Amino acid sequence: MAPITTINFYYDTLFIILTLQSEVKRGAVQMGAVAVVGANWGDEGKGKITDYLAGEADFVVRFQGGSNAGHTIINEFGKFALHLLPSGVFYPRVMNVIGPGVAVNVSGLVSELQGLRDRGLPQPRLAVSDRAQVVLPIHILLDQAEEERLGARQFGSTRSGIAPFYADKALKIGVQIADLFHANRLVERLERCLDMKNVVLVHGYGRPAQDARELAEALAREAQDILPYVADTTTLLHRGLDAGQTVLLEGQLGALRDPDHGIYPYTTSSSPLAGYAPVGAGIPPQAIERVIAVTKAYSSCVGAGPFVTELPEPEASVLRERGGDAGEYGVTTGRPRRVGWFDAVATRYGCKIQGATEVALTNLDVLGAWNDVPIAVAYKIRGTVVTDFPATATLTEAEPVFERLPGWREDIREVRAYADLPLQARQYVERLEELIGVPIRLISVGPRREQMLVKS
Ligand code: GDP
Repeated sequence: MAPITTINFYYDTLFIILTLQSEVKRGAVQMGAVAVVGANWGDEGKGKITDYLAGEADFVVRFQGGSNAGHTIINEFGKFALHLLPSGVFYPRVMNVIGPGVAVNVSGLVSELQGLRDRGLPQPRLAVSDRAQVVLPIHILLDQAEEERLGARQFGSTRSGIAPFYADKALKIGVQIADLFHANRLVERLERCLDMKNVVLVHGYGRPAQDARELAEALAREAQDILPYVADTTTLLHRGLDAGQTVLLEGQLGALRDPDHGIYPYTTSSSPLAGYAPVGAGIPPQAIERVIAVTKAYSSCVGAGPFVTELPEPEASVLRERGGDAGEYGVTTGRPRRVGWFDAVATRYGCKIQGATEVALTNLDVLGAWNDVPIAVAYKIRGTVVTDFPATATLTEAEPVFERLPGWREDIREVRAYADLPLQARQYVERLEELIGVPIRLISVGPRREQMLVKS
């Protein structure tokens, strides 16, 4: 039998060799991507966090969704609501990428770019994937018609055509950006799509049919405005990563809107998870080094679906009016957001399915008006206390179990160091950290770029 010391030497040497090998492998694969994604129902303040981090990035990439959600960004140029454009458009050195997984509304994109020009901003650097697909007018028409048909049972869609768009992509009758520049192919693709969709439009909703040739002409004309930006973004990003450049992946909406893991059917139609980011952006999964899950210090939710900590009126109005930069109202729709106290059950789950390596906590300043601040630490479902986030059918029966922490009743918007926050605010942050199980690294204390604290 070998002496103990020999065995230890053998294992130590093996460990060193394996470690070195894995370091070599790490060096060989592409690294350098950071995903900024939502831990909840969307509107967590991802735009502010992406804008804050974008200055360090070479690329800022949208990988899913379309112009159905909006990011609010407040910086030295003013206040902006971005829908399709990545949040790096305010930095001249950043290359902004709209990846293959995005739903591109061409006229929406053109008017967003025009909006920046109208406000005196320099032309942003932008690349739109030639593999991304186009939101067609029929998608918007079908989305609107279906919500109208559903009436009181509607999903709360933003009516931007996103669900019909992704359905057509799955049906393989979608139109890629590259098709817009091949006249005959475009007509063929549109005929293929409209063949099926006009039946529903005319006979299901009593609307006039769409004509493939007319539509092709209009789309081809419109496409000329984005032609300078159309590119093979996959190759662009791979080259960037190979050269050691950094990529910021910008999620839209939040984990609980994921079609597989969220509050189905009150979900969106593409995955807002960091796990989908490499697919929708076209980069290798192992390139993602950090996943920053963004969550608000309270909860807000636009649209329908179970929302366990939702506050009734008039308490909701008090929180809603203090929230965000000018109250909690949807950026795309202007709808008042439903609001409630922090939900640790939902957020812990959201962070888990995002694979969060760290958390950015926003809107902490908003909670400075209460003597005590409740946190939902568990749910009560049919008399049983649970701490794991259940499927929608069970979630609808959940009631929040609150723990109350002392409030700080102070304006913290000018605080710039974590240690300078009032004790109660720090206790609140640290309790959330404990409940979520992921370190909180960034704390936002106001909508402006500089209102940010870094916690070690
Ligand atoms: P996103 O889609 O996740 O980027 O979120 P939205 O832009 O839809 O909503 C976040 C709202 O909170 C916007 O009105 C932001 O300007 C605002 N906001 C972000 N961070 C803070 C913060 O720390 N404090 C306050 N008061 N507002 C914030």
